[in-house]
Amino acid sequence: MNKNDSYQRLPGNGKSPETSLLQVEDLNAWYGAAHILHGVSLTVGRGEVVALMGRNGAGKSTTLKSIAGLVDRTQGSVRFQGRRIDGQPPYRIARAGLGYVPEDRRIFTDLTVRENLEVGRQPPRRWQDGQSVPLWTPERLFALFPNLGEMPDRLGGRMSGGEQQMLTVARTLMGQPCLVLLDEPSEGVAPLIVQQMARTISELKAQGLGILLSEQNLPFAQAVADRACVLEQGRIVHTGPMAGLTVF
Ligand code: ADP
Ligand code: MG
Repeated sequence: MNKNDSYQRLPGNGKSPETSLLQVEDLNAWYGAAHILHGVSLTVGRGEVVALMGRNGAGKSTTLKSIAGLVDRTQGSVRFQGRRIDGQPPYRIARAGLGYVPEDRRIFTDLTVRENLEVGRQPPRRWQDGQSVPLWTPERLFALFPNLGEMPDRLGGRMSGGEQQMLTVARTLMGQPCLVLLDEPSEGVAPLIVQQMARTISELKAQGLGILLSEQNLPFAQAVADRACVLEQGRIVHTGPMAGLTVF
């Protein structure tokens, strides 16, 4: 079965004939009185990688945080596997199978690599159609991130920024997500880590996960993404195939 075809035909909720893994419609977000997102709409399907592109301050992180339930004041709808998740607390959104990797790597510096992974562990999960979501274990993650496999007992605080970045992604995968939000995975890490991150994203895609990543690095986005959504001042100004995007 072609994974890219399957998500369009998941049972809908009656309102929308096509149900993607993630459907964001007319999302608005505020910090205090500052209106940051203005009617953002986007979708991510199973096995699809969507890059949210835009300059500093465009609203990329705010979009991901809003989806993850971390912005206090939002309006609009966010559907995940056909169910509304907007307005739910972050822990419920995470438990529904939506993984979020923030910009600042929030690993536990006084826990080891293996302990950090255990903190993220959640039970196995099924897709809406009943199929099992591929199960992540520390062993599988160590195969995916060989650097981490070489240092299972290293304290988080004694790792490089890039290694911490990988550990954050690996810990999120221990939550067995169906979709992962990645906030600027290539930012501030060494080229070798960027390459490994790109391989990881391709692997997740191959497993049928959906990925929404925010990026300012066009070559990186071109290497991994199927589609691009371009944000400018909190508005989506372009959506289309990644291949067609040369500037943003
Ligand atoms: P990006 O991730 O694209 O760089 P952000 O979503 O971080 O953009 O920021 C979008 C806008 O929201 C910017 O103008 C930024 O200054 C503002 N902003 C971000 N976080 C906060 C916050 N916690 N409080 C107030 N304003 C914020
Ligand atoms: Mg940001």
